Amino acid sequence: MKLATKLIHAGAEPDPSTGAIMTPVYQTSTYVQSAPGKNKGYDYSRAGNPTRTALEEALATTENGKFGLAYSSGVAATDTVIKLLKPGDEVIAASDMYGGTYRLFSKVFEKFGIRFHYIDMTNPENVSKHINSNTKLVWTETPTNPLMNICDIKAIASIAKKHKVLMAVDNTFASPYLQNPLDLGADIAMHSVTKYLGGHSDVIMGCLVMNDADLREKLYFIQKSCGAVPGPMDCFLVLRGIKTLHVRMQRHCENGEKVAHWLRSNQKVGKVYWPGFEDHPNHVIAKKQMRGFGGMLSFTLKDDSVENAMRVLSSTKIFSLAESLGGVESLINHPATMTHASIPREERIKNGLTDSLIRLSIGIEDADDLIGDLKQAIG
Ligand SMILES: *Cc1c(COP(=O)(O)O)cnc(C)c1O
Repeated sequence: MKLATKLIHAGAEPDPSTGAIMTPVYQTSTYVQSAPGKNKGYDYSRAGNPTRTALEEALATTENGKFGLAYSSGVAATDTVIKLLKPGDEVIAASDMYGGTYRLFSKVFEKFGIRFHYIDMTNPENVSKHINSNTKLVWTETPTNPLMNICDIKAIASIAKKHKVLMAVDNTFASPYLQNPLDLGADIAMHSVTKYLGGHSDVIMGCLVMNDADLREKLYFIQKSCGAVPGPMDCFLVLRGIKTLHVRMQRHCENGEKVAHWLRSNQKVGKVYWPGFEDHPNHVIAKKQMRGFGGMLSFTLKDDSVENAMRVLSSTKIFSLAESLGGVESLINHPATMTHASIPREERIKNGLTDSLIRLSIGIEDADDLIGDLKQAIG
């Protein structure tokens, strides 16, 4: 079955009691048992809820995976993966990943004795160099937020496999429409479902998708034990969002391409970070592992002052100044003070995330209107 058909029908069985075509919102915390321990597969909604089960099946399908697990946020999904580890274990992570992931690793888990190495993953050899006998996990993110670097999932996965190290990919920016890490050899695909999968800026949620049954059991045990589960109404909203993922993503990609090219042709714009450009340093890998280049891009201005960036950031009328991404509406964001403020300035600048960098999440409005808005804001 092709993706468009799978997205519409994934996890959607008619409700057995009424035939309802949409999965009901099972707004319940518990389930009546006919005798102690005798239930219909559900006993308490932290451990399982039918709306969540339908969503988890749908999420697995989007990533061509066997198992899906949904969490109350993207960082809760990441948190679950790190909880597979124990003190003394080491993790190799990308140096320019999502600020909240960096914060979780460095401010929460380091004090439990887990060591993180932050490296440039655009060269897979760097991963090999940092693997030692304590390494248990390679955490990648591609494209990276906000600099749109691409790392070679297949190459890194084969290095991880050779050393029997688990590999997880934060696939939020690409969405399952553009890239499927499990098909490229990764063990876990992680998403901030909040973004493209939800798609309507109305839910905070995360997920993990995997093929290995033992790994699924371990991650499910942590989901149940630590309790970061999404509620049934949020699961329903995402079930609805997934049905239009392919239609939305197609437009995100078309608009992203138009805006990227327009920005590049503008005299007042400095660098434009978008993996679809043929001279993007990782374009060849992007083309190989992605089916399109998405709706995320970042840029700087030729007048590289913070004041000039601030002026543009507060002058758009269609682009809303807000954190987050992947919704139908276009957003403009200042990583240095907003999404990536939790990364120390020195660390940020070292990785190319300057004070004047502007990030765009291109929505599915009319591309000409978006370009018109940027034109009047850049001035
Ligand atoms: C937003 C985001 C997260 C965190 O997800 P939440 O749903 O906000 O907890 C993780 N990774 C990336 C790439 C993100 O954009």
